[in-house]
Amino acid sequence: MRRLRRIKILATLGPASSDSAMIRKLFEAGADVFRINMSHTPHDKMRELVTTIRNVESSYGRPIGILVDLQGPKLRLGAFGEGSTQLKNGQSFVLDSDKTPGDNNRVQLPHPEILAALRPGHALLLDDGKVRLIAEETSSERAVTRVVIGGKMSDRKGVSLPDTDLPVSAMTPKDRADLEAALTTGIDWVALSFVQRAEDVHEAKRMIRGRAAVMAKIEKPQAIDRLAEIIDASDALMVARGDLGVELPLERVPSLQKQMTRMARRAGKPVVIATQMLESMIQAPVPTRAEVSDVATAVYEGADAIMLSAESAAGKFPVEAVSTMNRIGEEVERDPTYRTVLSAQRAEPENTVGDAIADAARQIAETLELSAIICWTSSGSTAIRVARERPKLPVVAITPNLETGRKLSVVWGVHCVVAEDAHDQDDMVDRAGSIAFRDGFANQGQRVIIVAGVPLRIPGTTNMVRIATVGGEGKPEK
Ligand code: PGA
Ligand code: MN
Repeated sequence: MRRLRRIKILATLGPASSDSAMIRKLFEAGADVFRINMSHTPHDKMRELVTTIRNVESSYGRPIGILVDLQGPKLRLGAFGEGSTQLKNGQSFVLDSDKTPGDNNRVQLPHPEILAALRPGHALLLDDGKVRLIAEETSSERAVTRVVIGGKMSDRKGVSLPDTDLPVSAMTPKDRADLEAALTTGIDWVALSFVQRAEDVHEAKRMIRGRAAVMAKIEKPQAIDRLAEIIDASDALMVARGDLGVELPLERVPSLQKQMTRMARRAGKPVVIATQMLESMIQAPVPTRAEVSDVATAVYEGADAIMLSAESAAGKFPVEAVSTMNRIGEEVERDPTYRTVLSAQRAEPENTVGDAIADAARQIAETLELSAIICWTSSGSTAIRVARERPKLPVVAITPNLETGRKLSVVWGVHCVVAEDAHDQDDMVDRAGSIAFRDGFANQGQRVIIVAGVPLRIPGTTNMVRIATVGGEGKPEK
């Protein structure tokens, strides 16, 4: 099975998409990676989903990625005596550490470290930004605030603090328990919510110890200020537009999406564009024109992947949502303008052997109009560096490690094949040709370029390019 688009599709699983028949349909429609959202998934359900996905994976013989998304430190208010209260513009309202049920004058904020970090002038956004408060007096026990935008406030609504550098790690005790359970089950990617600094990613990596790759969700202004160090620390980035649009003015989200996509591409880190991409498809079988345009924008920007949240997890049309993304991806990538835009944004190769080789392979392949770039890769890094070049021709990654194949499922343009490791260089060239032939990337007599590291089996040694002609039975002529 071969996809006809380069951008990858992530589909979140949930009540609308948790049985094997549905997961199959989503995969067939175009989902390359499945996301399990730990905010809504108990451990036994998570394990069941992983088992189902792995069964689908083995029946198709194609690696499928699994991304487990940790909830992160989502802050919430305490409860009200009467369940809710109506806050009026201009009134004063107190947040404190007192557990007593709240009323129209006060409510508990059950996070002492947050009270301690708040300063006069800081904004507090309640319930996805529907209600806005400004702190006027602060102490470690209470914050007196002024209601700037009033509204109804009820028990345990979410609180966002766009101006406050929170002294909290990106992982709560729940996240640690969820992460341990997910790693024991065997997953490929972990998404960290509300990352504020590189140390949040380092902390997660210390716990993960190489058992999964880490995707930092960028959804806080504090992370935007430290983007370079976070990209450097992470294996991939998610532009988490939902919370980003709560913590920052909505009109800033499009330019930030563009900046983040470019920075991640320059660094050669996969970047996923997420949230509300086809939101209206939760209820309807066709999206709005504006949504189609939004998905197309992400494709034109050269993002590695686009993501569905509630559309596939809880909507009425999960399969239609995936196939809509699939069609938009295919169509945009057929547009000659797409190529022009991608090439104009290509970053210079970094000053490493791997990057120089990846860049040279792309140039040779495009100049000679070869059929495919074939990477032999054990950790996946060679394929990621080649994908960073956004080459015109197909990229096939051959790896002996199933984990690498699964991890590469989020990466732009990489068709991954898990195969027994090559015995020597001749075998490597032979099998590159026959796999390219078998999977429809090259016909007999056509040429491919092979990128690899020799000696084989030592990760991070990309140092070789070789051109081979695919001969009879798909075997290359030497
Ligand atoms: P969430 O993250 O769906 O876990 O909140 C994505 C976002 O905030 O956009
Ligand atoms: Mn979020």
